[in-house]
Amino acid sequence: MFRNTRLKLTGWYLLMIMLISIFFSIVIYANVDRELVNFESYTETKRERILSNFGSSALDPISTAVDSELISEARGRLITNLAILNAVILVGSTIAGYFLAGRTLQPIKEMLDRQSRFIGDAAHELKTPLTSLRSEIEVYMLSKKQTKSEADAILKSNLEEVIRLQNLSDSFMQLTSFEHKELLNIPLVRTKLHPLVENAIRKIEPQAKERNIKIKCNVKNATIFADEKSLIQLFIILIDNAVKYSPSRSKVTVSTKISENVLIMVKDEGIGIKEGEISHIFDRFYRADESRSSTDIKGHGLGLSIAQEIARLHNGVISVTSKPSQGSVFTVALPRH
Ligand code: ADP
Repeated sequence: MFRNTRLKLTGWYLLMIMLISIFFSIVIYANVDRELVNFESYTETKRERILSNFGSSALDPISTAVDSELISEARGRLITNLAILNAVILVGSTIAGYFLAGRTLQPIKEMLDRQSRFIGDAAHELKTPLTSLRSEIEVYMLSKKQTKSEADAILKSNLEEVIRLQNLSDSFMQLTSFEHKELLNIPLVRTKLHPLVENAIRKIEPQAKERNIKIKCNVKNATIFADEKSLIQLFIILIDNAVKYSPSRSKVTVSTKISENVLIMVKDEGIGIKEGEISHIFDRFYRADESRSSTDIKGHGLGLSIAQEIARLHNGVISVTSKPSQGSVFTVALPRH
């Protein structure tokens, strides 16, 4: 499909260039032809005047003869030259057009590739909870006698899968909404950093408390330009991950450093990330080996992709340093205002 579109676009480029080139060739030919006709009639008039004033003896056969053969040769040469020029333009613009069409379509091709990969991965993520829901319901319907506690267990498991699907659909919505915001260039408003971080910590605190994890906030106040809701969401993702990937009774610290940028660090004492996996964790649907193999740590591998979209929306970046079994530090760098 990409190849066909590229050829079509090359065709359109070519059509436009050739129309312009042929138009100018016709204009050039018409002008030169007019000059030749003028020259012909000027020479003829001159010849007639000499003939009537001085007689045929005064005629210089070389300077006054209208050599129509020469003129038609000149016409022929002009047509050949214009044809060669058009042929060169045709070949040159076919090569240039094909190259330019490729360059024009490249970002669209990359976007389409990304989208189809996303759809494939999303379908794969949807398949697991849907299959599990379906088989549990089928087993329930086939078995004749079910005790209340068995039915409750099935319903509980179904509910977990439904929540999983709901989280997944929320993540999809967030991803598209932040991508959309970036495209629309949503205005950022002047705001204080501290309340945004506190807001995010408040949202994660209940699950941290459940596992005896303490969240410490060492955030200095700084003024930034932000889309508040999005930035809170970014902090929620990082703090939630810090809690999720930490052992019970450990500590998560959120701190800031203000230099030429505003740096917000989320540090944990959790499982850490292997060096080879760090470069992939921002990819959509990527989960490091350890989190994928754990049945307790839930996720779809979309949180950090969303976080990265939000950072980009704020002209910021997220970086990571991590050591397996020692912990990780996620740093968000935002422009200072
Ligand atoms: P999810 O947490 O839903 O799997 P994310 O996109 O938030 O998805 O994270 C991608 C992967 O990066 C996680 O699966 C995990 O392997 C790794 N990761 C993220 N944050 C941390 C952290 N604080 N400590 C250890 N690993 C982490």
